[in-house]
Amino acid sequence: MFLNTNFPKAKKYWYEGKFYDWSEGGCHPTMHALHYGSCVFEGIRAYSTAKGPAVFRLPEHNDRLLLSGGVLKMKVPYTKEQITETIKQTIRENRLDSCYIRPLLFFSYGNLGLVPKACPVELAVFAWEWAAYLGENAAKGVHAYIIPSRRVHHTQFNMAAKLGGVYVQSTIAGLEAREKGYDEAIFLNMEGRIAEGPGQNVFIVKGRTLFTNGRLESALEGITRTSLLEIGADLGYKTVVGPITKADFFGADEAFYCGTAVEVIPITEVIDGSDTTAPPTTHTIGTGRPGPVARQLIKAFNEAVTGRDPRYEKWLTYVGK
Ligand code: PMP
Repeated sequence: MFLNTNFPKAKKYWYEGKFYDWSEGGCHPTMHALHYGSCVFEGIRAYSTAKGPAVFRLPEHNDRLLLSGGVLKMKVPYTKEQITETIKQTIRENRLDSCYIRPLLFFSYGNLGLVPKACPVELAVFAWEWAAYLGENAAKGVHAYIIPSRRVHHTQFNMAAKLGGVYVQSTIAGLEAREKGYDEAIFLNMEGRIAEGPGQNVFIVKGRTLFTNGRLESALEGITRTSLLEIGADLGYKTVVGPITKADFFGADEAFYCGTAVEVIPITEVIDGSDTTAPPTTHTIGTGRPGPVARQLIKAFNEAVTGRDPRYEKWLTYVGK
């Protein structure tokens, strides 16, 4: 019934205790989450290592999943250990070596009032091979479009949570950037400073310093971002977490997106479309090509996630046979 055209190597998914063939689907269209986005999710990656597939920072992702469930006032009927085991099983069941993993907790079928009083909280886990999120060419640098609408503010939503419904803003932003011919979007926050991408954090580089922002700038404090701050410091860079203005961004030596799906992708041009009363302005970042710092971080990140740098093996959960 459902073709897996866009989910390479996905054979089975896990739903409420059982594996189903990818082509099977049986959720009722009145389920609560479909109407109101009353779901929370994670985006996780596993990488191929010398000791078989390993999930990158699985405990941190599962903590965030459960935190998100709490923000949505779900009574989650699974423990962190059960979710961890289910994720490992799903990777094994699909015989995946490296993959993207998507656990989803959602208010399911029961009632359609805004308060899901008769809807159980259910869990589904998916895994498939998801290569380059922004396409194969993105490694050469992407053009980012600052969209006019501002990121939801940290006083409106808990920025540490990944709440399904809030992602409708990211979907609109992503469509808007592509409609204009650019690779990806960037949100400003309500204060007019850089917030984040629709599903990515933003870093800028000036000299030997890496700058990124955090929750108080209305950005998710992503797990990739946190890892890069540590890897960057280990490489001898100074790291600063705080506000990034548009002027900082446009004048940076380098800039890049980071996140689980996108990994680390250089931003080589920024198109500022945030002022709807004036034409957009174009700003080349640095030389307009991926810079040495981004290249060094990409290499170090890659070695970390694939278990080739023993310092970061602490971040890997081996899936086992
Ligand atoms: N910001 C947003 C809005 C995101 O959805 C993501 C992806 N989870 C990120 C940043 C990056 O977070 P992470 O590195 O944990 O994937």
